[in-house]
Amino acid sequence: MSKRDYYEVLGVSRSATQDEIKKAYRKLARQYHPDVNKDDPNAQQKFAEIAEAYDVLSDSAKRARYDQFGHQDPTQGFGGGAGGPGAGFGDFDFGGFGDIFDMFFGGAGGRPRGPQRGQDLEYDLEIEFEEAAFGAEKEIQIPRTETCSTCGGSGARPGTHPKTCSVCHGTGEQQTVTNTPFGRMVNRRVCQACHGRGQMIDDPCPDCRGQGRRRVRRTVQVKVPPGVDNGTRLRMPGAGESSPNGGQPGDLFIVMHVRPHELFEREGTNIYLDVPLSFVQAALGDEIDVPTLDGSVKLRIPEGTQSGTSFRLRGKGIPKLGSPVARGDQHVRVQVMTPTNLTERQKDLFRELGKELGVQTHEQARSFMERMKDAFLGNA
Ligand SMILES: [Zn+2]
Ligand SMILES: [Zn+2]
Repeated sequence: MSKRDYYEVLGVSRSATQDEIKKAYRKLARQYHPDVNKDDPNAQQKFAEIAEAYDVLSDSAKRARYDQFGHQDPTQGFGGGAGGPGAGFGDFDFGGFGDIFDMFFGGAGGRPRGPQRGQDLEYDLEIEFEEAAFGAEKEIQIPRTETCSTCGGSGARPGTHPKTCSVCHGTGEQQTVTNTPFGRMVNRRVCQACHGRGQMIDDPCPDCRGQGRRRVRRTVQVKVPPGVDNGTRLRMPGAGESSPNGGQPGDLFIVMHVRPHELFEREGTNIYLDVPLSFVQAALGDEIDVPTLDGSVKLRIPEGTQSGTSFRLRGKGIPKLGSPVARGDQHVRVQVMTPTNLTERQKDLFRELGKELGVQTHEQARSFMERMKDAFLGNA
């Protein structure tokens, strides 16, 4: 697609004055204005061509560039691509590339940006089973970097002030300008004199040695809410590291590690407890004391309870994190203990009992044998 010469479009000579260019443009614009040429399908295109030619030739910088490079101006499509009025070809800047480099290299060593957020910190906190269930107040010591309280973060000895960096004039960046056949290339990097701070400190603060921040051990009160579990992360906004350049501090994350309980096992909001039951208690039934997080409670064991039976104590589990009114359950699994080390008399009693129970035992055993046959021989 060949583009017509701008001078040709406006019908003026290459040495035309700004006045002549303006006059020619006005005349043509009136002539080809789409509003007065509704019947001519080419009028709009023609009008756009005139407007573009005028936009370039009426701007001395753009005109000079056009005179030098014509339509092949390599800067078009970059900064000049906007092409609109005031796009300013004179000071061409690869600023767009800087952003791409920052993207690839994470901005490290790239050009300085606005205030940086401080780093997040993580702390592993060990708590008891009951503390996880009902919450706790904990005091922890965390080493972190804070804004220096002596100099208020300026890095200058109290009574003195940092002064604007004379190399970068406070911008924190240095520009190197290279003239290339494609135009001026502006390269930006972090100011080497002030390391991007934009300020120089003649008399550094003795407590932070001019850093404006220092490492301290800080005591932090942690409110552990009821219902946390292993791995729960609590976030304390703003309790992390301070920013190196006046930005927001990072957050502190506290990761819960719950010590195992001697008796209870936990799964989500439910608690599991194994309770041994004597042969006699299981057979005849009993009322037993069961430990819970809220103290001991009575549990009725009905007669004829089998080993492995589970009883549920509603609402005796762990409070739900975030809504402590809702609580899980405690499941009590009974384990029937077979008597050992029997005396001769006890053995006799069992033998007697065995004779009494004979029929029942026989029936249960027979049904078991039949089920086993079905399973192994497929005699359905
Ligand atoms: Zn200081
Ligand atoms: Zn500087």
